[in-house]
Amino acid sequence: MERRCNFLAVTTILFLLTAHSLSVDKPRLQGFTVDHSDAERGLEEQFMSSLDARRARSIHKTLTSEPHIAGSPADRRTAEYVLQQFLKDGIEAQIETFEAVLSEPRRIKFDLLSPVTFLGPSPEYVASDQVSNNVRNPPAFNAYSGSGNIVAPVVYANYGLPVDYQFLQSKGISISGKIVIVRYGRCYRGVKARVAEEHGAAGLLLYSDPQDDGYHAGDPYPKGPWRPASGVQRGSVLYEFITPGTVEPDGSNVPRLPTLPLSYSDAAHILENLKGPAAPPDWQGGLPFTYHVGLGPAVVRMRVQMSQVVRPIWNVIAKIRGAQEPDEIVLVGNHRDAWAYGGVDPNSGTTSLLEMARGLGTLLRSGWRPRRSIWICSWDGEEMGEFGSVAWAQKHKAELQGGAVAYLNVDYAVAGNRFFAATVPSLKKFLSQVASDVPDPAGGTVLSRANQRLREDLRQKLTPGRPADAGEEPQPIGREEFEPGNLGGGTDYIAFFDHLGIPALDMKFDGSYGVYHSIFDDHLWMLKFGDPTFAYHVAMARLLGLAALRLADTDALPLDYRAYGQDIETYLEGIRNKLALLGDSGRLDFQPAHEAAGELVQAAGDQNERSSAYLLQNAQAPGLHDMNRILIEVEQSFLLPGGLPGRPWYRHAVYAPGTYSGYESVALPGIEETVDAGEYEKAQQQLGALTAALHHAARLLASVR
Ligand SMILES: [Zn+2]
Repeated sequence: MERRCNFLAVTTILFLLTAHSLSVDKPRLQGFTVDHSDAERGLEEQFMSSLDARRARSIHKTLTSEPHIAGSPADRRTAEYVLQQFLKDGIEAQIETFEAVLSEPRRIKFDLLSPVTFLGPSPEYVASDQVSNNVRNPPAFNAYSGSGNIVAPVVYANYGLPVDYQFLQSKGISISGKIVIVRYGRCYRGVKARVAEEHGAAGLLLYSDPQDDGYHAGDPYPKGPWRPASGVQRGSVLYEFITPGTVEPDGSNVPRLPTLPLSYSDAAHILENLKGPAAPPDWQGGLPFTYHVGLGPAVVRMRVQMSQVVRPIWNVIAKIRGAQEPDEIVLVGNHRDAWAYGGVDPNSGTTSLLEMARGLGTLLRSGWRPRRSIWICSWDGEEMGEFGSVAWAQKHKAELQGGAVAYLNVDYAVAGNRFFAATVPSLKKFLSQVASDVPDPAGGTVLSRANQRLREDLRQKLTPGRPADAGEEPQPIGREEFEPGNLGGGTDYIAFFDHLGIPALDMKFDGSYGVYHSIFDDHLWMLKFGDPTFAYHVAMARLLGLAALRLADTDALPLDYRAYGQDIETYLEGIRNKLALLGDSGRLDFQPAHEAAGELVQAAGDQNERSSAYLLQNAQAPGLHDMNRILIEVEQSFLLPGGLPGRPWYRHAVYAPGTYSGYESVALPGIEETVDAGEYEKAQQQLGALTAALHHAARLLASVR
């Protein structure tokens, strides 16, 4: 026993020496003192080298061995498995059970009645993938669809966006009482349901067009990674861009109309039996005929019977207690529930999360404790509408708003090798530094690969014979830098960011992912196409782990509100320009908001300087602790007391998922969306609320001494 300990101590010292020598030429970690930065880099090397792709592959195989929709016995088994993994890693963990109103199909049927007969839906089937033969495969349905038996003629409405219905109206085609067929893509499917309902549709068919993620994009599964003819995209149509995580008693966040998802082989029977005007060129899809908009002659019968049932769902929460600041918490989370097997979505994320936990467990065994607490969360009920994370965040609101430093999210983590990230402006530099310290399996670092791809894409946009669209001060493409995007919606970070005002971060490696939400999103697809060696799962575990370790151990929290203030100034300018283009320049007074954003930039700049001065002293500098406590509060200044217009659950003044995109980020949503609707009085109120929020944030930062 003793000898073994000695041996371990010697190897640890040797290891740390080697790690130290590896890390000396790297820049100081943002927020760390010089000495602490070197030690942290040593720790990170130890963490990164303890991760293992073969183990990741075996975790993934276990997690994806059976369909595990939220609230099912199989879902419970994945919760038990994840719990056991955390406990094996030496991390205290437990299952937290919540009751959720989940949506279940009772009857899912559609038939083409005329001009020819076709009875649907057809089963999902690919001969060489054994999941095709599992009798327990869940049916393809849209959670929270309305119920009904409808017989009606069909109209094709492209992507089902408001602009598509405007076009149909201009052609004199009425939607009222009809069944509308639209293709997936461009926005969240719940937005399509809402827009169809707003236009009086009786029913909605959602299908995956081969142009978007089928044979037009590349070889379909199993020859390639794209959607096979029978593959169906399931998914929720809950109006989660209004309220996620719950079914509102007044029904305001669920559609009333029945909706059904279709494969393109089934949808083709309907689409090729539409006449009326030919669809415009940008409405044409990838099926081998000219698309017409209808009306009819295709007549479809939809028989959809859905029920809402209260079921338990199971979050698994693992906690590493911070040695010095246990009440300051770094959260890392991913959902575990899947529409079917969850190969990419979400269990590539769960695999990365568990492999990260394994690495942290290795550090714990070597005697390390983080300065702050790290909580690792495996959410349930995400696919239905973020039920697990929203309920948990609500329950633990006081602790979280009192001490959460940041929430780090992965949903699906690996569908290929292209790095994507989104975060708040205050963490963009931090995230880039993390990505510059993790090797990319294809060579270089994750950041250098992302830069290389960005520059290749930009070069491709240079068209011979045409001048380039350049900004005011174009810089050489070779110097362009990858920058994370803004936070939108449709995944678990909304519970923390949009509702509680906790800085969040989201990452993935994306790719040719044509099996999204179908039964073919499984272990075999991952082995054939997504990440055959599981090297990208390890890369994601490293990214998550490094981000968590740095935020947990840092001396001064690396939250840069100067960058935040500058971005807000840019967004205000953008809306002002939009009004100018509309000829409505004088309608809103931007001056107070501009001044308040300027105050934030100023106060944050001063705080950044104080932070640097503290770090030059030492980690024990008086004032550092108080500064960190203040920094933890600043993001919450951006929460609007009354929430966003028409959707009070979303409270963040600076970002939200768009009401008509559902996933994509809208900056200054309260102002932008009221301006778009021509509601200038409301827009002015929102500008006032933003101004108050900016003043509050600036005052907090100015109180740093
Ligand atoms: Zn997901």
